[in-house]
Amino acid sequence: MSLNQTVLEIRERQRIKSKPYDEPAAFWFGKDNLRGDVVDVMTIIFQTSGCYWGKQGGCTMCGYVYDSSTGTPADDDLMAQLDKALEQVERRKLEKLMVKIFTSGSFLDEREISKDVRKRILKKLADDERIVAVLAETRPEFVTDEAAKDCLSVMNGKPLEYAYGLETSSDRIRKESINKGFSFAHFKRAAEIAKQNGIFTKAYLMLKPPFLTEREAMEDILKSINDVAPYAETVSINLCNVQNGTFVEKLWENKEFRPPWLWSIVNILREAKTKHPDLYLMSDPVGAGAKRGPRNCKTCSRDVADMLREFSITQDIKTLDTVDCDCKLLWEKELLLDDVTFGSPILE
Ligand code: SF4
Ligand SMILES: [Zn+2]
Repeated sequence: MSLNQTVLEIRERQRIKSKPYDEPAAFWFGKDNLRGDVVDVMTIIFQTSGCYWGKQGGCTMCGYVYDSSTGTPADDDLMAQLDKALEQVERRKLEKLMVKIFTSGSFLDEREISKDVRKRILKKLADDERIVAVLAETRPEFVTDEAAKDCLSVMNGKPLEYAYGLETSSDRIRKESINKGFSFAHFKRAAEIAKQNGIFTKAYLMLKPPFLTEREAMEDILKSINDVAPYAETVSINLCNVQNGTFVEKLWENKEFRPPWLWSIVNILREAKTKHPDLYLMSDPVGAGAKRGPRNCKTCSRDVADMLREFSITQDIKTLDTVDCDCKLLWEKELLLDDVTFGSPILE
């Protein structure tokens, strides 16, 4: 059975909860380093009809597909979702912020967001004096010269950034561990079109997808950062966690997967930032310390996660040396030993 078929069978057993179509799937606030400037950020996940790739199986670690709508929200519903999030900007009295748009799919896929609504959303954000930049996530196959120009036509010169869940520069790992359905060449093509139009590029990488040892996963990300650096201004490294209704969850339940150690990402950031001082590198360790999340020991996970967030905002490599713990010795042992366990976790 193919990996995609296995993922699809797991998906078909999940129930998607329905939600009023005029409510976003989620939105939240935080801070981010916007090419050298620390700004407030509102992240909004639009509730759309969902990722076409995820609906036919899709990525092995992705539970975001269950945030999608049970139907197809109308154009006015999508605009109402934006209004609900912007009300909170008002309530929080934010004066300078960046807005990140996600859809649990692709902002540029017209089956999720029509061309007209896409422009209405961007125009509304660009016309808002408080908003200094917009980021939108998409799969690379939807990036065309026409779509880029169409987006920019309403941006009033404000910076626009496309973000891609590239995960790795290795086509083999992206295909056989993640089942992503696009290649590094697709990403490079999209980044080049974006660059020609003056649109920034952010690449999301994924530390430790299935079937890689801790050491292989680290090496893969370090190589991927080198490969991606010529095409992206920002690289954000997601740490694979165990989401409900995913192939990764099945492996984890069978004790065949452990999320990455936080020491691994600390080391990756230190090495990569030294090599690429002008590249914005970040990592938000979602679920850090939880049994389904990336973690060290119980004592230090929370502090190391805070340290990673601090580095992501400041880009100051010295912040990565502010926390230490004895469990680092255990992590070093795991790096030596898990090559001989064929990917099965040693410690759980
Ligand atoms: S990770 Fe992205 S491309 Fe993959 S199934 Fe999820 S939403 Fe779709
Ligand atoms: Zn520890």
